[in-house]
Amino acid sequence: MASCKKCGQEAVVHLPYDRSNWCAECFSDLFERRVARANREFKLIQNGDRVAVGVSGGKDSATLLTVTQKLAAKMRNVTVLPVLIDEGITGYRDAARQKAEELCEKLGFELRVYSFADLYGSTLDAVMLKRDEKRKALSEFTAHPSCSYCGVFRKGALNRAARELGATKLAVGHNADDVAQTVLMNMLRNEPERLKRFGPASEENEEETAGEAVVSLRDGAFVPRVKPLIYCLERECALYASLNQLPFHLGECPYASESFRGSVKDFLNVLEPKYPGMKFNTVNAFLSLKKDWSSTVKQKLVPVACAQCGEPSAEPTCKACGMLGELA
Ligand code: SF4
Ligand code: ZN
Ligand code: ZN
Repeated sequence: MASCKKCGQEAVVHLPYDRSNWCAECFSDLFERRVARANREFKLIQNGDRVAVGVSGGKDSATLLTVTQKLAAKMRNVTVLPVLIDEGITGYRDAARQKAEELCEKLGFELRVYSFADLYGSTLDAVMLKRDEKRKALSEFTAHPSCSYCGVFRKGALNRAARELGATKLAVGHNADDVAQTVLMNMLRNEPERLKRFGPASEENEEETAGEAVVSLRDGAFVPRVKPLIYCLERECALYASLNQLPFHLGECPYASESFRGSVKDFLNVLEPKYPGMKFNTVNAFLSLKKDWSSTVKQKLVPVACAQCGEPSAEPTCKACGMLGELA
């Protein structure tokens, strides 16, 4: 059995991209230092922040909440507020929510839950039924994939929850795999402007996408989103969660197979074992290019209140209301 690179004890983790081996304790330490590095490098969570943390019951957000709590303990006056968005996906979200509750109890947090049903008047299941009925009835109707509805609604719901909690940052569990996928997806769809606006943080006075549009964050309508797990692979988040006995849900969303992201994820997962380090290379190449782009991305559009729901939007009607309107 291989021994730990740092302390020489028996290793339980092998990292193929640098051929290193780690014991559980040293691996967790390495993982937490990587999160701290991303935090420093991109100025994600800072002293005095109230940080809403998006938790789903899955391994990434279980890890995110745990490391954010540790990070906050080393900083001054940082408050951590876990938030779960219940999309209303039968047989999936309830089980995951149970795990999120267990995790929060273990860490000593109160979990705030916001649901699509409350915020949008409809569960994701109901939206999907309406979409499928409409698709059958109207051949010219352009149906979006489930994850597009879910993504737009969840992004809006998390922002609203964070704002209502008075959060100054919204931390999300996007890991290096997610970032590599987004980079490739934007390239494969020829969406360079979206790619330019994507990144580890949406700071105040910078831009964030609301659906397809760009809006300014200056008025506080959008809580800046931060991604502390940008330097951690999905496999490493799962290892961290397992080795630290964090409760998390393993099931897969029943709509996941519909997504373009799922196809890109499969593609990267086939390549990574053959060419270890490829996912990190994609993330690092993107971050290097982004340094050159940042000076050119300075569109400023002040968000208006959506005419229907009042949430911030670059258009008179926000993306979520637009999508719901198509199904009415
Ligand atoms: Fe939503 Fe798609 Fe994720 Fe399911 S897989 S929770 S539909 S984004
Ligand atoms: Zn060790
Ligand atoms: Zn709206």
